[in-house]
Amino acid sequence: MDTVLEILGGFYRITLPMPFRLKEVNVFVALEEKGFTLIDTGPNMAGVLPALEEALAGIGQSVEACRRILITHTHADHCGLAGPIADRSGAAIFLSATEALKIRTFSDEGQRIERLRQFGLENGLDDGTLKILARVFSAFRNAGPPFEPTGTLAEGELLMVGGRVLEVIPTPGHSRGHCSFYLPEERILIAGDHVLPQITPNLSPDLIEPDFRPLSAFLEALDRVASLPVAMVYPAHGRPFQDLRGRVDQIREHHRQRKGFALAAVSGEAKTAEKVSRAIFGDDLPPFDQYLALNEAYVHLIELEAEGVIGRRVRDGLCLFSKD
Ligand SMILES: [Zn+2]
Repeated sequence: MDTVLEILGGFYRITLPMPFRLKEVNVFVALEEKGFTLIDTGPNMAGVLPALEEALAGIGQSVEACRRILITHTHADHCGLAGPIADRSGAAIFLSATEALKIRTFSDEGQRIERLRQFGLENGLDDGTLKILARVFSAFRNAGPPFEPTGTLAEGELLMVGGRVLEVIPTPGHSRGHCSFYLPEERILIAGDHVLPQITPNLSPDLIEPDFRPLSAFLEALDRVASLPVAMVYPAHGRPFQDLRGRVDQIREHHRQRKGFALAAVSGEAKTAEKVSRAIFGDDLPPFDQYLALNEAYVHLIELEAEGVIGRRVRDGLCLFSKD
């Protein structure tokens, strides 16, 4: 993939390397009369900022010229450099109110890890795995340091970005306050992690709002973007693609199947979400994948519960799901 791709006049996609499984993240630069607006930033990890600086130099820009940063969601690969870039440039940072709240609530990393631990314990992760997970999360602390948002983005808000209209489209699911950005004139969707060409984004419960149902929110938000006239989708990971509705149909089918697997897993006997995740994803996952698998199983189970198809009870501090 080209490191720098000019999508529209003065509107660029920059692909940054990162030491995660996804390997690359796409950020976007819109040249303004003075300086530029940046959409997402890449993580605060070795080599990423230099790669961004080099790409910016190639289009006659520098980090110092960044005037504004728009963030799709607060995962480290999307916002990790927001603070460091704003420190150097004075750029204003905008994101949804929900994601801003998340940044404030979890400015203390210890609190986030404690909530994750609690969730893991209730849903059947063993202590050893939880200890390893806590170490993994601590190790990534610097990848997404907290920052001070300048303001928030509202649903349907229209911004002028690089002389073009850009609409804020809330697309909760992967993260509760995830936003995508739509250019109605150009029919371009900057999708963040909401719709990806190769994989489905991980769905996790929201640690601040336990009543949030990631799967139904995600599916509704897929309908929302599928109803827009879109000629090209630019995802945060992977190549651009045209057939948004086709991709949305595939993702819906994927979750319908996975919900079926979750239902089958709790049909014989009551199970924790962790046991269900093993039934779906197998027994041999490394701890971090086991954690992601647990999240996926859990969000499908709470959807079935909300539909009245299965029930849940708590026994000895463990949350058990069953179909009767
Ligand atoms: Zn993400």
